[in-house]
Amino acid sequence: MLAAFATPVHAITPDKAEFKKLADGVYAYVGKLNDANAMIVVTSQGVVVIDTGNNQPETRNIQKHIQAVTQQPVRYVVITQNHGDHIGGTPLFSPPATVVLHARTAKEWAGWKPYQVNTWRKRFPERSEALKNFHPLDAALTFTDRMTLRLGGKTMELIYVDDAYNPGDIAVWMPEEGVLHAGFAGYKERHPDIRPDYSHGTTVGMMKQLEALIALKPKVIVPAHGPLMGTTDLQAMIDYLVIARQKVRAMMEKGMPLEAIRKNFRMEEYKGWDREAHYPVIAATIYRELRGEGPEITTVNERTVKGKIDKIEEEGRYLTVSTEDGKPLALRISNATDIEGVPDRSHFKIGMRFTALYEEQKERNETLQFVVQ
Ligand SMILES: [Zn+2]
Repeated sequence: MLAAFATPVHAITPDKAEFKKLADGVYAYVGKLNDANAMIVVTSQGVVVIDTGNNQPETRNIQKHIQAVTQQPVRYVVITQNHGDHIGGTPLFSPPATVVLHARTAKEWAGWKPYQVNTWRKRFPERSEALKNFHPLDAALTFTDRMTLRLGGKTMELIYVDDAYNPGDIAVWMPEEGVLHAGFAGYKERHPDIRPDYSHGTTVGMMKQLEALIALKPKVIVPAHGPLMGTTDLQAMIDYLVIARQKVRAMMEKGMPLEAIRKNFRMEEYKGWDREAHYPVIAATIYRELRGEGPEITTVNERTVKGKIDKIEEEGRYLTVSTEDGKPLALRISNATDIEGVPDRSHFKIGMRFTALYEEQKERNETLQFVVQ
């Protein structure tokens, strides 16, 4: 009887990452429990890695899978979106591998603060010698419109769909194999992670990307997160965005204020889709777009904290710590977090004492540096 009332959660990957052959020399690394995916292209002239794994253990796992199928070195790392769970594993391969990224992403990397570059160099202790004095853009290839990467008889089309707010998201298309890495636009039965700061672009930009990708008629699609999918899933996301925009517009026409729209926005037509928690953020993004506003600018303050870890959630992604003055503080540990004394966030322990430099943002706290003593 219980099952009849439970909301089914669709499109979640198994609790162990999978390495799946999609075509000759082409593999999908499907992240566990909807962690970031990667795509691997093995050729007679080297390997291309497309996105780099959710965190350090996942990136090392990708490397292990590559070494199990070839002795060729990784020559290129292609970045489909500028988020930690997609770019964070790059320093395991580059240098000597060349990073291929959109010019907008490269521009953001060029503006990194010294601590961000330092974190990059320290992310994989086994790579500290190779990354000494290395800047992430020291071995990079950028493009603005479209790029064709040919290696060992394989062709990869790097596709950017221009839009004022596309932050540099790209897709990777292999026409001969019919295989597509859809990048950010690839969603299967999951409410999209589209935000008012436009860090993932806009719904308009996303629909443009989806139209362009459907036109390629791919046989199999690797999304940024979640199970492998097909063009019907790309079309389903366009339909979703159209309906979502209609709903927000209707509430705006009734004169509802933003707060009420955030609270009342629902997509009942998509019952069972993953991440209903995204509702208010999707509504707020569409609201800005429909008003013709640019990205929301959040003020960021850097603060330091001394304290100890009281609670660890989601494999160290979220920590609750008590500060010296006894106050609890919630921290989000990103892949860009500099953690001294522990190899990565999966090694956090309750009671561990630390000092941290973190960014305080309007809606969430994001840790920048995390120094365990
Ligand atoms: Zn991601």
